[in-house]
Amino acid sequence: MSALPYLPFTRPHIDEATIAGVVEVLRSGWITSGPKVKEFEASLSALLGGRLVRAYNSGTATMEIALRIAGVGPGDEVITTPLSWVSTSNVILEVGATPVFVDIDPVTHNIDLQRLEAAITPATRALLPVDLAGLPVDRDRLYGIAGQYGLRVIEDAAQAIGSNWKGRLIGSFGDLVSFSFHPNKNITTIEGGALVVNNEAEARLAEQYRLQGVVRSGLDGMDVEVLGGKFNLTDVAARVGLGQLPGLERITERRRLLARSYFDQLDPALMAELGVQLPPADFTQSNWHMFQVVLPDARPGLSRAEVMAALHERGIGSGAHYPPIHLFALYRRLGFGPGDFPQAERIGRNILTLPLFPDMEIADVTRVCATLTDILKNPQR
Ligand SMILES: *Cc1c(COP(=O)(O)O)cnc(C)c1O
Repeated sequence: MSALPYLPFTRPHIDEATIAGVVEVLRSGWITSGPKVKEFEASLSALLGGRLVRAYNSGTATMEIALRIAGVGPGDEVITTPLSWVSTSNVILEVGATPVFVDIDPVTHNIDLQRLEAAITPATRALLPVDLAGLPVDRDRLYGIAGQYGLRVIEDAAQAIGSNWKGRLIGSFGDLVSFSFHPNKNITTIEGGALVVNNEAEARLAEQYRLQGVVRSGLDGMDVEVLGGKFNLTDVAARVGLGQLPGLERITERRRLLARSYFDQLDPALMAELGVQLPPADFTQSNWHMFQVVLPDARPGLSRAEVMAALHERGIGSGAHYPPIHLFALYRRLGFGPGDFPQAERIGRNILTLPLFPDMEIADVTRVCATLTDILKNPQR
């Protein structure tokens, strides 16, 4: 047992002012979607250069609605990555469309844009890339391809709030952009998400799909034009988000600083010798949602699970983000299988998320680096 407190791989930070603000909302008499949601949407819009934003109760709902707004449905193909949280492709199935996976780039771990064009067919309607760990997909190439083939883009930027592409904040440009505010994400609403849309017509659809398709008029008028669901954010959750947003820049800076410290303390020569791959050293564009290394293919006494268990035993949490989607039973039943996307399979098998969150100290990074190095150098202890 370690004497030091357990270090999780991530932990949300909710300040006292936010807690007090939530209590105020709870006492206000209006706790579900209302003024706080509107204020949260306006704050996000201001952050994202004035683009139209609508808030939801999850990042999954947000993407499903983005697909509906883009008119994606049965018979349509959507190109996406096999290395993501399963939500990314579940939403494609949810709207009745077909996910088409393209293998990942072994360095960035994002969808390999060089291979993307070969997957486009006459049935392709949209591209759904993911900025894994907050490292942005090349937006110039992405939108170059989308423009050339007349495809919609739904950016799964669940992990990329605060990231930028060449100085432009993710969500401040592009087509439909989806964020998640799950507690593990860089800012949280406990559960929640937000969708950036292009115009008032899309914003209207975004609201209809959010709540039963309802459109109100006057004091007592109501109509239902489309089949919507129940995806609205509460004012309590929105108040949490309002307490988080002003800290976004500081959070991003802090995460970059901690990531830099990992690079300073994980000896590159030793990592190479141990067969450990470090992430791309991007300290200007990525929001460092996660710090992930790729372990070598399993040696005796040194599988990823054994490394995770050894870290845990010494008071350090870690994660496996993510198992490749196409190997889940549901997706195998659709015809996918081992060998389809070798890069996603190798990296999905060996990727390891190390602790990184704003309340961590440099000393915590030191502890993780020393412990991990020790475990890797001395397997089967
Ligand atoms: C978190 C996440 C989602 C889903 O967001 P929820 O708010 O949990 O529904 C989707 N895609 C990616 C890449 C994510 O990390």
